[in-house]
Amino acid sequence: MDLKEYISEVKDWPIPGVNFKDITTIMDNGEAYRYATDQIVAYAKDKQVDLVVGPEARGFIIGCPVSYAMGIGFAPVRKEGKLPREVIRYEYDLEYGSNVLTMHRDAIKPGQRVLITDDLLATGGTIEATIKLVEELGGIVAGIAFIIDLKYLNGMEKLKGYDVLSLVSYD
Ligand code: AMP
Repeated sequence: MDLKEYISEVKDWPIPGVNFKDITTIMDNGEAYRYATDQIVAYAKDKQVDLVVGPEARGFIIGCPVSYAMGIGFAPVRKEGKLPREVIRYEYDLEYGSNVLTMHRDAIKPGQRVLITDDLLATGGTIEATIKLVEELGGIVAGIAFIIDLKYLNGMEKLKGYDVLSLVSYD
C-alpha cells in the first residue's frame, strides 16, 4: 500500500509557506490506518518494547493503536498544565518563543524500553523534547516511529544515534 496516496496536503496552512500534511485521511480509512499501525508494530516487534510514548495530539493517534496491538501501555507527553499529577517538564525553543512539554513523573520505570511515536518529523524539536523526558525518567529509547519525515527540514540530524522509522518521506 502506498500511504502517500492517503495523506492530504494543504498548502499555506496554518500559515503561509507551510505545506501541511494531514493524516486524518489515513485515519478515516480503516485499511490505511491499520496498515500504518501494522508497519510500526512490525518495526517494534523485536525491540523488547515495554511502553509506547507519544506527544499530543497526533502522537496519541499513532501510538495508541500500536500499544493496543502490542499489548503494552501508552504514556502521554502533554503541554504544560494538562497532566493532573506530578510532572517533569522540558522547555525548548521554537522559531518564535518556546514550548514546554511534560510527562507524569511515574509514567516510566527506570530501565523500561520505550517506543516513541508521532505523526510527522519536521525540525525534530518535539521529538527531541520527548526523548529528553523519557531519558530523564530513566527510560531507554528503543525506537522512534513516524508516519512522515519532511526530509528537507533535517529533523533526522537531531536523532543521530537513535533507531528511527518513517513510513513516508518528502524531499
Ligand atoms: P517539529 O517539532 O518541528 O519536528 O514538528 C513536529 C510536530 O509539528 C509534529 O507533531 C507535527 O504534528 C507538527 N507539524 C510540523 N510541521 C507539520 C506539517 N508540515 N504538516 C503537519 N504537521 C506538522
